[in-house]
Amino acid sequence: MYRFQFKGIENTNQYEELIKVFLQPSEYEICKDTDTEIDFAYTFQGDKDDIKRQIYDDLTEVTGKRPKWGILTGIRPVKLAGELRKQTADVNGILKQDYYLHESKAGLTQEILDYQRDQIGQPKLGSLSIYIGIPFCPTRCLYCSFTSNQVGDREIDRYLEALHHEIEVCGQMLREGRPAGWQASHVCTAVGYRPEGCEVIHWPEHYEIETIYFGGGTPTTLSAKQLDELLTKTAKAFGIPEDAVGAQGPLKEYTVEAGRPDTITEDKVKVLLDHGVDRISINPQTTKQETLDIIGRKHTVQDVYKAFEIAKKCGVPVINTDLIAGLPGESLEDFRTSLREIMELGADNITLHTLAVKRASKLKEWDENFNYKDELLREEMLKDAHAALRDKGFQPYYLYRQKHTSGNTENTGFCKDDKVSVYNIRIMEEGQSILALGAGGISKVYYPAENRLERIANVSNYQIYIERIDEMINRKRTGGIVSC
Ligand code: SF4
Repeated sequence: MYRFQFKGIENTNQYEELIKVFLQPSEYEICKDTDTEIDFAYTFQGDKDDIKRQIYDDLTEVTGKRPKWGILTGIRPVKLAGELRKQTADVNGILKQDYYLHESKAGLTQEILDYQRDQIGQPKLGSLSIYIGIPFCPTRCLYCSFTSNQVGDREIDRYLEALHHEIEVCGQMLREGRPAGWQASHVCTAVGYRPEGCEVIHWPEHYEIETIYFGGGTPTTLSAKQLDELLTKTAKAFGIPEDAVGAQGPLKEYTVEAGRPDTITEDKVKVLLDHGVDRISINPQTTKQETLDIIGRKHTVQDVYKAFEIAKKCGVPVINTDLIAGLPGESLEDFRTSLREIMELGADNITLHTLAVKRASKLKEWDENFNYKDELLREEMLKDAHAALRDKGFQPYYLYRQKHTSGNTENTGFCKDDKVSVYNIRIMEEGQSILALGAGGISKVYYPAENRLERIANVSNYQIYIERIDEMINRKRTGGIVSC
């Protein structure tokens, strides 16, 4: 047991996150008591990264480990690289020297930043992404920590009624740009502008929706009719013509997650395409039947093949797919096979995840220390998969990290033929406002002058969301910080 003490530091969370990369929770203790015998003591002297470097050096010495993401515990290394780019041309060097990143991680981070800037640049001032959440799935996966409920049609209808209302009012709010408290003299230049001394966030008169993303949950849990109504409301509320995507207009991408292959039918896909959706995701996570059974998917590998067949036959322009490295019981060969099959099925965009053991998941109850096991195997899986994807012409285009991942690795999105997911990039970049509707949606209002975000959260419990729908809407009107 190692005992740590942080002198003059109240909140030690970020330091503890780094300690957890080296040690399991049972192997260390944070002590406040000055009488206890301490192994490592740190005092804040103006730079939190200094303390992290000391922790890294101390724990490398006692454990022999050299974690490749260095002292970074945040989830957005590419965003950090973007910030560093404003100060220096040698981003790679700073990541290695100041943040202790291994060459392979620093190189990947810089490569992705350069590719993103080259492909889509930075978001335009006043541009906006819209997220709409559908918190339902056919079953709950073993590792799930999202808002996912298994309910009947009546509950889904009740939810949709509330969601339609939120979409309608928020659409009106954006179109009119004149929420409560508006005065004509205010000139709004960016989404979420708040004039000095005013308590109300003003949505601009001229906004541009860059991407729309339906996530969840699994949006295709809805029937074809429900999807049709929902997408019709969305188009009307936000003024989206059916042929808007990919045309000359600002809307670059319209995505609907169809994650669970067993929810995908031809009539649903046709509805999506009729409304201008140009991207869906089919996320089997593995193509090994035994694993699908273990993670609680209740669908077959055949369902995965069928879902791809339907999407291809209907002419979906881009198919995203997620795979997870480190699922229970899987070998390197299993992961290789899943990746090979997904590439053969014709996915355009593949995100490699590492299994994260989240607090709210069944996996946490199943095996609390799962993420500390088989670390080398997970690393091997990702290394192997990166090489296989590059070999087939896929390019890494976005990256993020999660806490409590097995092997302290990262999630990387790869695309073919430059079919990047703009939404995925924007959400990690945090340089654009996101209007998020539905249970669990977290809107983010971006203030360009200060380069910061304010979050406005909807409740994640769908029943409470229905009950308090007017409050959810009002939170957006006022910014959720003060009411007027
Ligand atoms: S498909 Fe996604 S949201 Fe649904 S239960 Fe599985 S992990 Fe959760």
